[in-house]
Amino acid sequence: TKITEHIQRANGKTLFSFEIIPPLKGESIQHLFDAIEPLMEFKPPFIDVTYHREEVIDKKHSNGLIEKVSIRKRPGTVGICARIMERFKVDAVPHMICGGFTRDETEDMLVDLHYLGIDNVLVLRGDPEKSAGVFKPREGGHAYASELLQQVMQMNKGILLHQETESYPTSFCTGIAGYPEKHFEAPNLETDFKYLKMKIDMGAEFIVTQMFFDNARYIEFVKKCRQAGILVPIIPGLKPLTTKKQLTVLPRIFHLDLPDDLVKAVEECKTDKEVKLVGIEWCIQQCKELIAFGAPVMHFYTMSKSDPVKAIAQAIF
Ligand code: FAD
Repeated sequence: TKITEHIQRANGKTLFSFEIIPPLKGESIQHLFDAIEPLMEFKPPFIDVTYHREEVIDKKHSNGLIEKVSIRKRPGTVGICARIMERFKVDAVPHMICGGFTRDETEDMLVDLHYLGIDNVLVLRGDPEKSAGVFKPREGGHAYASELLQQVMQMNKGILLHQETESYPTSFCTGIAGYPEKHFEAPNLETDFKYLKMKIDMGAEFIVTQMFFDNARYIEFVKKCRQAGILVPIIPGLKPLTTKKQLTVLPRIFHLDLPDDLVKAVEECKTDKEVKLVGIEWCIQQCKELIAFGAPVMHFYTMSKSDPVKAIAQAIF
């Protein structure tokens, strides 16, 4: 089922959903199931599964030499989606990224997703490789999410890369990322917005936002979208703060501002256990306001840990 249909069917009732990340290579999928299980009582119609590109790591040899090798630390997105659908009977939404893929590899992944009966994909560029700092596409790959989106849209029309004859048309419902506080590479909000609008005009059907801790940012973003004629569902991405360290880590990684009141409350905490409670309470208040504003889904970045999100969902759903 398409995300847009889930939202329509909910008829104004706010839905609950969440994102998980694949386990580190070598870890059992059971850890992931254990993290998903406690959240199923809140009836998520869909679960997102992130995609991770390769990273360059130092491999130490027994003779002391260090070799740089490129490995994918968290593979398995497509397989995990299949298992989630089979086990939990919900839709799984794989994230697709440009980074590390050629167009042909992307096409093959879409074929797999089609065979698996996956109806939705979240189309992204992907983060730059940590070692590179700036995003570099693979040779023969896409440089922007809009190019990847274009490929999915072509496939939805039955057009494949190197085939003259028409193939089966797929009907992927595509989502894209939105940044209420601007994407970090965009020179300003206006430019970023121009590309967001472009992707919607190309046929993207829903937006999932980067996490934010100040609802005013989301509300402004939604209003701006509506004024620009972007009428698709805008799903807020939410994450409860759980450690003091995140006060510096989250703004650095996700390029967002933390509200003064939240920073103050966290700074006053003596332990991370206390921080967790502050983070949960903050997120509950965020949800209440967002639901009153009419946000269609409360979408949580779980980082594959269920406790804090469960506490929030219990208070809200
Ligand atoms: P794009 O739309 O390509 O935009 C990237 C930058 O280029 C922006 O500054 C934009 O303004 C600009 N731009 C866009 N189009 C053009 C154009 N045609 N010409 C010139 N400039 C342009 N990363 C992962 O690696 N794996 C994941 O699973 C993942 N999941 C995510 C889920 C969500 C909800 C969000 C919000 C982010 C996620 N990310 C993930 C991170 C994301 O890949 C990064 O933020 C990435 O840097 C940008 O992705 P994008 O799709 O917004 O890129």
